[in-house]
Amino acid sequence: MFDVAIVGAGISGLVCAQQLHQAGYRVVVVEKSRGLGGRVTTRRLQDTCADRGLSYIFPAGELTKSFVELLYSQNILTVWTDTVHEFKADSQLKAVKTSPLYIAPDGMSAIARFLGKNLEIQLNRRVVGLSLSNNCWHIELEDSDAEVVAKSVVVAIPAPQALMLVESLASSEALDSLRKVEFAACISVIAGYPASLALPPWQAVTVIDDDTLAWIGNDSSKRSGMRSPACALALSPVFVFHSSAKFAQNYIDTEDLQPVGQQLLNKVAKLFPEFANPDWLQCDFWRYAFPTISLADNCLNIDTPQPLICCGDWCGGFNLEDAMRSAIVAAAQINQILQLCPTIPENAFLKL
Ligand SMILES: Cc1cc2nc3c(=O)[nH]c(=O)nc-3n(C[C@H](O)[C@H](O)[C@H](O)COP(=O)(O)OP(=O)(O)OC[C@H]3O[C@@H](n4cnc5c(N)ncnc54)[C@H](O)[C@@H]3O)c2cc1C
Repeated sequence: MFDVAIVGAGISGLVCAQQLHQAGYRVVVVEKSRGLGGRVTTRRLQDTCADRGLSYIFPAGELTKSFVELLYSQNILTVWTDTVHEFKADSQLKAVKTSPLYIAPDGMSAIARFLGKNLEIQLNRRVVGLSLSNNCWHIELEDSDAEVVAKSVVVAIPAPQALMLVESLASSEALDSLRKVEFAACISVIAGYPASLALPPWQAVTVIDDDTLAWIGNDSSKRSGMRSPACALALSPVFVFHSSAKFAQNYIDTEDLQPVGQQLLNKVAKLFPEFANPDWLQCDFWRYAFPTISLADNCLNIDTPQPLICCGDWCGGFNLEDAMRSAIVAAAQINQILQLCPTIPENAFLKL
């Protein structure tokens, strides 16, 4: 019997879990994938690694700023660049100065591994149902007779997926709130090139107003200073291309993504011919990449006899900073109901 079961080991689930764990709660995190981080994930492939979701952290607010400072002090994050180039059709590449963008030389999933420290986490376990009996939540898992039992549940997954779990439990008002949330999709392509590729003089390009392509990142330029042997062979150039939401929307039901990745690459090659012939490419589809319509509140309390709260980047915002804020507010609400400690400091998750 746990005090809190958290569905989803993305950044919001892990921050919420740490907040409650630091406050003395017995917490379990249940995650459907084989790794931590959700959209903050690194793919190991072709003797190297590449960030296929979040590419860098831009400290957009106080939480990400303090988090970055901590990870920087522990050599998990380092500065990647302070210049992003912009590309607009019929114009030259334009260098735009930004605040520093931070990356993890070992891959962005290092951030999630850091947040997962000292937590009880069950991987490869998809939650398929929630039910209440004897004042406890019974959390049903796919392909398993075992279940997780807890006094309270935090659902830290995108709203459309949360809707499936809470549909039979929530009021029509809560369901309406969940249904209003919308996400944009994104296709990300990782492409490996021969060592002879002439490297461009930039790390990242934002493509403005294009129907197909949104972003290009020189992923291998992040790997200097890496510590993990899994990334140690990242000597050949690796680039990551993100599609526009409009392009991705066309392929929501497509099973074979390889031709789709090739199509995105063809577009890249039109703008930058040097990227036409990779040695290999890997394509990923993000059905729920970025919230486009979010909830006004920082979390959604499903008014059930035992606590059930939804959180994530779609609660009160759109980005990583908002995901963290939402997780902290959800943890505070759980604590308000279960009352194990007077208050949980906002930065408890930084006391790792
Ligand atoms: C390509 C890409 C680029 C991005 N770039 C940026 C950026 O530059 N700046 C920025 O701020 N944000 C960016 N983001 C968004 C950022 O990554 C997210 O805002 C943030 O990671 C959201 O975290 P989360 O915990 O709310 O959700 P998620 O990361 O989606 O975590 C949810 C977790 O729940 C798990 N899960 C889902 N259903 C179940 C179930 N039934 N049972 C068990 N587990 C389940 C999932 O596997 C996942 O691990 C980007 C995202 C993508 C995809």
